Amino acid sequence: MSSSPGKEKIFSELYDLKEDLGKGAFSIVKKCIGREDKIEYAAKIINKKRLTGRDISKLQKEEKICRQLQHPNIVLLHDVISESFTHYLVFELITGGELFDEIVAREYYSESDASHCVQQILDGIAYCHRMGIMHRDLKPENLLLASRAKNAAVKLADFGLAVQLETPDQVEWHGFAGTPGYLSPEVIKREAYGKAVDVWACGVILYILLVGYPPFWDEDQKRLYAQIKMGRYSFPSPEWDSVTKEVKELISLMLNANPKKRIKAEEALRNPWICKRTEVASNIH
Ligand code: ADP
Ligand code: MG
Repeated sequence: MSSSPGKEKIFSELYDLKEDLGKGAFSIVKKCIGREDKIEYAAKIINKKRLTGRDISKLQKEEKICRQLQHPNIVLLHDVISESFTHYLVFELITGGELFDEIVAREYYSESDASHCVQQILDGIAYCHRMGIMHRDLKPENLLLASRAKNAAVKLADFGLAVQLETPDQVEWHGFAGTPGYLSPEVIKREAYGKAVDVWACGVILYILLVGYPPFWDEDQKRLYAQIKMGRYSFPSPEWDSVTKEVKELISLMLNANPKKRIKAEEALRNPWICKRTEVASNIH
């Protein structure tokens, strides 16, 4: 992480902006090249003009959280530049695109590939949770692939909604936040919640990886939320028939509607379908 004390940094003096890489609800992400080191980065650019004081404090939270995180499965923050009207978070460039697009391209993953992918997501989540950080917005759009290779590393991105917990197992109402299909029952019920929300989202992602469609879905948001609150999902035939009972069991542990009984990220990493992939995960599906 480079930081120069004293003089305020100006983005255009330090980086040369290139093409768009992606867009989120709050930002535009563009490729840029360091003028000095000639290395390519990804700059998350946030226009401050339309932001309220509260939004600005959220930006500072994202920066503070990203500065702490150094893990092979988490996008590394390189630099932060704050100009009067624009805020720049400069990250390592991840070139394989979003997991979202990879699922769309492949339609679905084999169990073995899904196990490898989810192991990396869980590794990243378990690390965050050890640091007392919950992500709150895990979904395939916020998971990036290190390269186009089949077994490319997966990296957690977008800590824009992440929360630094006051105590490791803090359970509190931190506001209604996340993405509809990935929201946990406790958030929808507006109950106190904690790190278990990330494991729920990871369960939704695992389900999607295996069949290409989500466990909870309805065009009508009220009905979608009703499904999630009841924890009502199924493994429809025929596509789930070739899926092992071991991964269905793991999904049910992650999608336990009771956050107290839901499996922890650390425990899920010890689940045989994850850690004994070659013996347990099917190569047929
Ligand atoms: P938002 O908070 O607005 O959703 P994100 O941090 O999710 O912003 O970034 C938006 C998109 O930009 C991502 O979904 C991804 O496609 C792309 N992106 C983000 N960070 C990187 C990166 N380090 N390398 C390459 N692309 C990135
Ligand atoms: Mg995002």
